[in-house]
Amino acid sequence: MKRILKYLPLLVLITISACNMDKKSSEISAQNESVFPKGELLNSENFTGTVYLKMMGATDSTLHVSYGNVTFEEKARTNWHKHPGGQLLFITEGKGYYQAKGHPAQLLHKGDYVEVPPNVVHWHGAAPDSKFAHIAVSLNTDLGGAIWIGPVTDDEYNFKE
Ligand code: MN
Repeated sequence: MKRILKYLPLLVLITISACNMDKKSSEISAQNESVFPKGELLNSENFTGTVYLKMMGATDSTLHVSYGNVTFEEKARTNWHKHPGGQLLFITEGKGYYQAKGHPAQLLHKGDYVEVPPNVVHWHGAAPDSKFAHIAVSLNTDLGGAIWIGPVTDDEYNFKE
């Protein structure tokens, strides 16, 4: 009994540490969890790398919006493109970039958002070392869908200027 009492404080300390570690690892996994469903693997010539898409709303004649969750694996990205009616991006996971043609790429993290003005040529996608997810909202879709221009080459992706 005396021996148990001697080691009791140590036992309590170990138990508390173990609980804290559990808390920390659950906080980290919560940060990495997807907010919205990942959807299906996207098979499109307008993207480079592995991309998943979950469309969320039906384009209709009243709201003129089309939106979905786009998840990019490391290095995956859209082609250069533009939206006649503009687009909003809400970053929900990871780290990636938005780049308007002729401007340096903007580094984006979970919680950031981007307003893409109508007809600005741009791309968006994951960082080389991180997956990336955003909700993409295409606006004023009565003006037309995305106009695709061509791939973001590895040189363009690596340089980002
Ligand atoms: Mn876009």
